[in-house]
Amino acid sequence: CGVFAVFSPKDDVATLTYFGLYALQHRGQESAGIATFDHGSINVHKDMGLVSQVFDEDVLQNLTGQWAIGHTRYSTTGSSRVANAQPAILSTRLGDMALAHNGNVVNAGKLREKLLKREHTLLTTTDTEVLALLMADAVNDGKDWIAAAIDACQQCEGAFSLTVATPEGILAIRDPNGIRPLVMGYFGDEHPHDGAGQYVVSSETCGLDIVNAHYFRDVQPGELVWISESGLKSVQWAEPERRLCIFEMVYFARPDSIYHGESLYSYRKRLGNILAEESPADVDLIMPVPDSGIPAAIGFAETSGIPYAEGLIKNRYVGRTFIQPTQMMREAGIRIKLNPLRDVLQGKRILLVDDSIVRGTTSGKIVKALRDAGATEVHMRISSPPVTHPCFYGIDTDSQDQLIAATKSVKEIEAKITVDSLAYLSWQGMLNATQQDTGTFCSACFTGDYPVAIPEMFKRSKLM
Ligand code: 5GP
Ligand code: SF4
Ligand code: MG
Repeated sequence: CGVFAVFSPKDDVATLTYFGLYALQHRGQESAGIATFDHGSINVHKDMGLVSQVFDEDVLQNLTGQWAIGHTRYSTTGSSRVANAQPAILSTRLGDMALAHNGNVVNAGKLREKLLKREHTLLTTTDTEVLALLMADAVNDGKDWIAAAIDACQQCEGAFSLTVATPEGILAIRDPNGIRPLVMGYFGDEHPHDGAGQYVVSSETCGLDIVNAHYFRDVQPGELVWISESGLKSVQWAEPERRLCIFEMVYFARPDSIYHGESLYSYRKRLGNILAEESPADVDLIMPVPDSGIPAAIGFAETSGIPYAEGLIKNRYVGRTFIQPTQMMREAGIRIKLNPLRDVLQGKRILLVDDSIVRGTTSGKIVKALRDAGATEVHMRISSPPVTHPCFYGIDTDSQDQLIAATKSVKEIEAKITVDSLAYLSWQGMLNATQQDTGTFCSACFTGDYPVAIPEMFKRSKLM
């Protein structure tokens, strides 16, 4: 999911949030929502669909206010339906609140039972509602917004990057491991130095760029930031133990985002550099699977000295379509999305670079399409290690039995996707490519070493 927030009393906060969500669309395409506060009263609009489908100018005009939060959803827990669209809205003794969540609270099942015992009716099936109810409960028990948010977060385990809007200001919160990203920016030429100012919070820095806000810093793991008319207030609510999601760096986040000070485009290019050193090949052209494989393919070409070429043209307008292709079209497979360039491929030995193989279905189809278009050899290099374990922290990778590398060796995958050779980047290579302390990442989908314990029941549903 993508979360966003704007505190800018003199601006059109709904429109700024709309653009922020637009830049975060890759983080979730299922539903979108914005909540604004206008002198203490809340305005909300949320629905299924892309940001551009959910909002238009009329809707945005009615979302008046001095601050706003927004969300784009991609379902990890809870089914895909409009009731699950965020932000979650609740009423408390201090007024309404809106909460937007990216991540996955792994002990939500237990917390849900606790809430049901307290005679709460849960309207949705999401861990986000559980989080919001815990916070509202704490407010109703007499706590202020900050204390209530801390109380709720202290009961939750797992991944949560949150933006919360209240009648008095905005909260930005990150779990103690900082698994999902969350960054802050400000408007204007001069840094407000934590004093009163106009601030933006976003899952990624690409959300700051689009509204012309300056990147200021990441919300730190275990930190809560309160943004109000009196400026910023930071509370370290939990002992931080950094476990940033490495898959965000490898694939999920946009390459033009900066992750804890590090450019993801440059990181991905370095993955390609290292991959070329680890697993070279005698080929004519280095080619990416667009778009996610592009930076690593450029890095691979740079290190190997072999020319970089585009051999697949991507239709950039293919999103999540609800119209199923006809049977005849399905045989053509990936060509709805990717069309091979015959004149580039004809008679050439190709090395195809992608960021990851998950189920192996796309890769197999692409390889076949390249051969059909005249490639004489197709080799594949993957700029991350084999994905062998599901994610429980908010990235919707399949259950373990669906992950091709969980049950098959590299040689078996090579045969299955019909490539002349296949190699993955080493785990150490993936970590060494970052400029950050390599001990501060979660890489459980590549190792099975989960930094936050997974409840048994939850485990059984996804692990073999
Ligand atoms: P596969 O060959 O495993 O079917 O698909 C691999 C492709 O899926 C890669 O190009 C990668 O960019 C993309 N991918 C990796 N992880 C995910 C994910 O969690 N969701 C989706 N939709 N695509 C993913
Ligand atoms: Fe990221 Fe993988 Fe860890 Fe999930 S399991 S948080 S995708 S590194
Ligand atoms: Mg891809």
